Amino acid sequence: MVMRHRPSGTDDGQEGLFSVDDLAARSGDAPAARRRAFRDSPEARRMLDVTEIHAEPAAAASHRGRQIIARFPEARVLETDSHWRIPRLHGNEGNAERWVRVKRQTLVLGERSSLTTRPNGRSADWIAPGLSNGCAMACAYCYVPRRKGYANPITVFTNVERVVHHLARHVAAQGAKPEPNQCDPQAWVYDIGENGDCSVDDLICDNTADLIDAFRRWPTAKASFATKFVNPDLLELDPRGRTRIRFSLMPHADSRTLDIRTSPVERRIAAAADFLDAGYEVHFNLSPVVVRPGWEQDWADLLRQLDDVLPRRVKDQARAEIIMLTHNERLHEVNLDWHPRAEELLWRPGLQQPKRSQNGDLNVRYRNTVKSASLATLRGLIDARAPWLDVRYAF
Ligand code: SF4
Repeated sequence: MVMRHRPSGTDDGQEGLFSVDDLAARSGDAPAARRRAFRDSPEARRMLDVTEIHAEPAAAASHRGRQIIARFPEARVLETDSHWRIPRLHGNEGNAERWVRVKRQTLVLGERSSLTTRPNGRSADWIAPGLSNGCAMACAYCYVPRRKGYANPITVFTNVERVVHHLARHVAAQGAKPEPNQCDPQAWVYDIGENGDCSVDDLICDNTADLIDAFRRWPTAKASFATKFVNPDLLELDPRGRTRIRFSLMPHADSRTLDIRTSPVERRIAAAADFLDAGYEVHFNLSPVVVRPGWEQDWADLLRQLDDVLPRRVKDQARAEIIMLTHNERLHEVNLDWHPRAEELLWRPGLQQPKRSQNGDLNVRYRNTVKSASLATLRGLIDARAPWLDVRYAF
């Protein structure tokens, strides 16, 4: 069924501490006034060129939903009962060969129903309920599609005020951080992008900007998200040190095979100083670390490149997370159909051991001995090539 665009509507009906417009007014920087030169560029369109929007009715009628639908006036808008159940998009592994087209051309609009902030303690203190799920990029090792099937375009959650309200209450309830930990010496860190990439989400609407605005006003908290996409529009958002962007890095040889549709690794490294100067804290995710013949030399080269290219001011504040590859049996089988070369790197049964996940999937991780030896090797390389880079944690 093709939906009509509703001329008016309400937000999610929830009473929030801060409305989206109010957030902008408080920062003195209305979203409409922000420069969005990149969002409409040919490069951005290569990432996202939306021709089809599947929308829950309430999401389509919301303020954010109407903004998104207006932004893509050529797109067909199709009603869906639930953003979790769109058989044509989700759960259909036969979509593998047209993944990229689906990811580039399709959006889903939904309302986030569960508002839970989960403790984490590794990358962040807390995992915030994010404002998206799914990704326009298509990394061969990505765990995000597992819950929704494999052709997993971006679902944008439109009840922004409700999420911000929830976070405001959570931040207020924590009070000041009592003591430093590896997540941050002072602030409670909230990961806002667990199931997607906030830099790409910003090509669609101001959800990422609204979260950055909110955290700017919360002196005891800090937002954090990992990204593989350089979106220069984010430089306009004035985070004032309250958002940590974590550029994910891996050796170029791995990235060329595994990071599908992402910004090149060199570009992510080159962007670090711009993001620091724009008010972000800039960290690096060394992830995933893929153990294969020659991996040590390629990581050594990458670390040397970081040392050569990054200015001192970036090095002085940079921290790193190391995440060893976790793979998945079902994803392995799907990948074999469309990207077998990736599986030559990712599927190494001789080095890996199975681990049944909570949802019953069979994940594989490097055997304990392989993992600990590899981490020791990588830490040694960091000490030798980039001694300024503190490792916050390795997993
Ligand atoms: S950028 Fe992140 S969320 Fe997107 S496909 Fe790659 S790993 Fe998944």
